[in-house]
Amino acid sequence: MTSDNGLVVRRLSVSYGSVPAIIDVDLEVPGGRIVSLIGANGAGKSTLIKAITGLVKVRSGEIAYRGRSLAGRDPNVILEHGIALVPEGRRLFGSMTVRENLEMGAYRIDDARKQAELLDLCLHYFPDLEAKLPSPANALSGGQQQMVAVARALMSAPSMLLLDEPTIGLAPAFVNVIGSVVRDVNRQGVTVLLVEQNAEVALRVSDYSYVLESGSVVKHGPSAEFLNDPDIKKAYLGL
Ligand code: ATP
Repeated sequence: MTSDNGLVVRRLSVSYGSVPAIIDVDLEVPGGRIVSLIGANGAGKSTLIKAITGLVKVRSGEIAYRGRSLAGRDPNVILEHGIALVPEGRRLFGSMTVRENLEMGAYRIDDARKQAELLDLCLHYFPDLEAKLPSPANALSGGQQQMVAVARALMSAPSMLLLDEPTIGLAPAFVNVIGSVVRDVNRQGVTVLLVEQNAEVALRVSDYSYVLESGSVVKHGPSAEFLNDPDIKKAYLGL
């Protein structure tokens, strides 16, 4: 794997007080690929995403994107480098309209025409959102809100998308929509790191996967191989 144009995490450790949550993690997301991170509840997946996006403090280690060091930088600096986050639990502005939520995602983009193009692109990915643009976000179903959360991240025209548990709690139809949009977005050249407790979705959508247990990477390899790996099947696919 070469990652000059992707994300490289080296010997990353993060602690909450004296309690380690991420221990010496190495991970690469080569530019243009989809990599997934799977693991049980509490394995440290969200902490890793938060460390990459500057939302928790890194204790030691390196994070680099396109050859530039990001460890310890502020979340808005990381966004300026082209990395957008779809956070766990969506974190929409519930009383604001869907349109306003999407516009918030494009706050760094001054050019109104570019903003309009990005909105069109989001509605191309999620046509069901068009009729919902004037509605308050909290009037939408969970699946529709997740679409808004993904679209809001896309409104920043990212070169890399980080998704933290985007399918949790969603009906299967919405899980499929999110999965296929992630692939479509990737086909347009956006690099993706997908964090999922739903290992089946993660392995089907991604090219390569990492398994996190108790804060450490215990296994990594091509996702297609993991789908047939007896240990993965037993531990993560319920087979
Ligand atoms: P989940 O699927 O439940 O979100 P996860 O794999 O994303 O799990 P993390 O949320 O990263 O796991 O949690 C990793 C460890 O760090 C867990 O033991 C958790 O209890 C702990 N932890 C997470 N957030 C904090 C915090 N703000 N303060 C203290 N400990 C935390």
